[in-house]
Amino acid sequence: MDQSFLIKPMLDAQYPIIDYGKGIYLYDTEGKKYLDAASGAVTANIGHGVEEIIEAMHEQAKRISFVYRSQFTSEAAEKLARKIAENTTGDLNWCFFVNSGSEATETAMKIAIQYWQEKGIHTKTKVLSRWMSYHGITLGALSMSGHTGRRARFVPLLEDFPVIHPPYCYRCPYNREAPDCGYLCANELETVIRRIGAQQIAAFIAEPVIGAAGGAVTPPKDYYKVIKEICERNGILFIADEVMTGFGRTGTMLACEHWDVEPDIVALGKGMGAGYAPIAAALVSDKIMEPILVGSKTIMSGHTLSANPQSCAVSLAVLEYLEKNQIIQEVESKSKYLREKLERLKEQFTFIGDIRGKGLLIGLEFIKKDTDKKEPFPRELQATQKIVALAQDNGLLLYPAGAGMDGINGDAILLAPPLTITTVEMDEL
Ligand code: PLP
Repeated sequence: MDQSFLIKPMLDAQYPIIDYGKGIYLYDTEGKKYLDAASGAVTANIGHGVEEIIEAMHEQAKRISFVYRSQFTSEAAEKLARKIAENTTGDLNWCFFVNSGSEATETAMKIAIQYWQEKGIHTKTKVLSRWMSYHGITLGALSMSGHTGRRARFVPLLEDFPVIHPPYCYRCPYNREAPDCGYLCANELETVIRRIGAQQIAAFIAEPVIGAAGGAVTPPKDYYKVIKEICERNGILFIADEVMTGFGRTGTMLACEHWDVEPDIVALGKGMGAGYAPIAAALVSDKIMEPILVGSKTIMSGHTLSANPQSCAVSLAVLEYLEKNQIIQEVESKSKYLREKLERLKEQFTFIGDIRGKGLLIGLEFIKKDTDKKEPFPRELQATQKIVALAQDNGLLLYPAGAGMDGINGDAILLAPPLTITTVEMDEL
């Protein structure tokens, strides 16, 4: 093609055209093969070309592809909502389906605000968050996102919701080590609540494992216990943004399970449709629905394609596929295998500063070679982008994370291959 009229992320770059995908591999029209070690953007969780999903899409398309949610529901949407409720811990029994992670976090934010309104409290409208976070690109979601690079252009339109440091132990701003650190970064939340006033704050939102903005930054053991306790004591809801971590990515259905913390609202996305269809959701607990069910009896949000039967049928098939093949149960042992290999690389290559993450959401942070001071590369070098581009040239797809994009952390990548990756494929990776 001589000229493209498609708006792509980098308008002056040449993008290969993908012809087809099978399992963890993609093949472009020039015949080049790529090992997708990032599942696209941590999305293609069961790999490409899975027959069962294609079959489910076909079957649903033969029956009905679209109904408008204000007039009808569908069997696919009803079944999916029930199955998600059965597969999540606590009383996250209500599902609001949307089409992207940004819509999911923004819906979560609106439901949190509505919850307080239904209880007669109209001042609680802020949703606090952390720096080094990403909750989506629409204005509400971006307001909650502590990703300086993505905020920069729109700052005048955004709320100042990111208020506390992330649990970034590799470069702790307090120069302390967990668990003896007193969880100072979590306790910042208490200080901010005092300053702003709990009467203004509806909720606090966090990614259980920080993905795009940090490179699988994983908090120490009791971090979320401290956060949840502060939230509860101050009458502030806890929203878990599991858009990247949900649906098994870290070895449990929701990553929050690792810390034994029950969120009031959860945002899901990416892995829900595993790239086969756009679908995301806000999961809402009974406690949050209670005043809404006796109050206005409606959620002031929604999109034309919310609860789209085609997308719901795909997500249902993904969930059944995960279950049938015991895929989530195997994530931990695969993660162990891959991380042992990576640790060996780290010994060999001193520019790998840190390896972290949960399950098959693994982050590698890079530092200047042969330094023991965790010295990051200068930002203008754009090391992450160069590493990712070089890997792609060599047929390996990585996800650029954190780093150079945020200003407060180093260069990092995410390794997040499809959860279906085999041992032989991990060796190749
Ligand atoms: N939340 C998290 C944790 C994400 O990683 C992302 C996307 O990377 C989003 C929200 C936004 O999702 P989407 O790009 O589907 O709008």
